[in-house]
Amino acid sequence: MTENNVKFNDVRYCYGEVCAIHNADFEIKRGSLTIFVGPNGGGKSTLIKLLSGFLKPDKGSVDVENNGAIGYVAQGFGFDDSFPITVKEIVLTGTLDKKILPFKKYSKEQHKKAEEAIEKVGLKGFEKRGVSQLSGGQLKRVVIARALASDAEILVLDEPDSNLDIEAVKDLYQLLKDLKDSKTIIVASHNIDFILDISDTAVYINKTARFFENPQELKEKLKEGMII
Ligand code: ADP
Ligand code: MG
Repeated sequence: MTENNVKFNDVRYCYGEVCAIHNADFEIKRGSLTIFVGPNGGGKSTLIKLLSGFLKPDKGSVDVENNGAIGYVAQGFGFDDSFPITVKEIVLTGTLDKKILPFKKYSKEQHKKAEEAIEKVGLKGFEKRGVSQLSGGQLKRVVIARALASDAEILVLDEPDSNLDIEAVKDLYQLLKDLKDSKTIIVASHNIDFILDISDTAVYINKTARFFENPQELKEKLKEGMII
């Protein structure tokens, strides 16, 4: 085990003619909370997809040291309100092994994992609720619980705070703060004031990536308009 468990080595990724990212070269420390910030279209989601293995770099490599799957929460991820599924059922799917046979019953161990994850995100008592009976903030927690139930050591969340009111955003970040140390957490976000204060390191992403050991330094630079 090394200190850094995510490594971007001079990565480039192009969608056909459009190169979203070039020369991305940085490392992320195990057990840290790192924020990806930058303008719309800057390449945050592309970097997150490269990190999660959904995209392969055109040049360079992405090395991820983890214990299996990465807990990935996509941008704009939601549930169809009319879909009749409960909190517990969603979180249980996080425990599924890809090799598992369909229609297999969940084991006691899987139920335990799901229950622990639900408790961790503060949704104990909501297990039997349908997704249509949850607030936006609670839904995000369900998705995070699902990722936790998978035992993933690395959690990657792409703008989990969009469409949430300020109180829900605060609660969400408090939760992420509580989860770090046991997990490596990477969040793409627009809420820079907030999350830069609680994050350990930051990456400014605008066609390329610039790593900041100290998020406050990035905050100052953004305030002074030194970075666009
Ligand atoms: P961000 O998440 O920071 O808003 P993205 O990673 O979504 O940025 O996008 C980076 C760039 O890549 C943008 O110019 C965007 O238009 C382009 N892009 C993203 N996805 C695709 C795609 N599927 N096909 C073509 N271009 C894309
Ligand atoms: Mg995005």
